[in-house]
This record gives sequence, structure tokens and C-alpha cells, in this order.
Amino acid sequence: MQLRNCPICGKIFVYNVKNMCPDCAKKEEDDFEKVRDYLYKNPGATIEEVSEQTEVDTKKVLEFLKEGRLMLKNENPNLLRCEICDSPILTGKYCEKCSRDMKKQLNNAKGDLSSRSKIGGQIHLSKYRREK
Ligand SMILES: [Zn+2]
Ligand SMILES: [Zn+2]
Repeated sequence: MQLRNCPICGKIFVYNVKNMCPDCAKKEEDDFEKVRDYLYKNPGATIEEVSEQTEVDTKKVLEFLKEGRLMLKNENPNLLRCEICDSPILTGKYCEKCSRDMKKQLNNAKGDLSSRSKIGGQIHLSKYRREK
């Protein structure tokens, strides 16, 4: 058993994945539900409005969104921005294009075992580029 100080309230607690004491975890869950409900009823609300109405810190609201736990409606495209290309997104940290690019890079870096079947296509592609 690993004991830690809760980073939020300072109480000692048994370490868990959330890295906060049960009281604070419960509070965060409550906050999350408040924000989710408010956004559900007011899909066009700004982060500031959400924070004011739910009494949840704007930073916390952003955190919920960036963790991908909350998703904005299409009516509300300007609250969150992709951390790479700055285009508007509805949830998470990156837009679809950037997360696709990242996945591709990850797959490429994984080594040749999984990509061996694709090598033919890649050679073809590089040849094509050279000819251009
Ligand atoms: Zn705590
Ligand atoms: Zn992007």
C-alpha cells in the first residue's frame, strides 16, 4: 500500500489511479456531471459561462474536454483548439487530421514486422516521388 498526500486537499490517502483522495475524486465526479449536464442543456455556452453556472474552475472544464470525457456540440466549435495546428475541435487535444498523422508516425516507428506487407506500396510511392 502506498500512501500519498492528496495534491488537491493535502490529506493522506492510499494511492490510486486518479492520484487524489476519495473525497476529491467524488467532488471531481460531481463537477464533471454538473459540467456535462450544463453543456447538454446549453450546447452553445462558452467555457466562462459553464464555469460560472456550475462553479467549476475553467481550467477543470478544459481538462474534462481535453481528456476526451466531454464532447462539445457542433454548435460550439470555437472553445477548443488543436494543440498542433490550432484548428477548432470538439473534444480531446488534437484535431482528427493531426491525431491521424500521429497514429501514422507511431505505426511507422513501430518497426518493420507489422508494416512488412505495406513495403511494396511504400517503394512504389517513393519511386513516384523521385520521378516527379
Ligand atoms: Zn483530496
Ligand atoms: Zn490539428
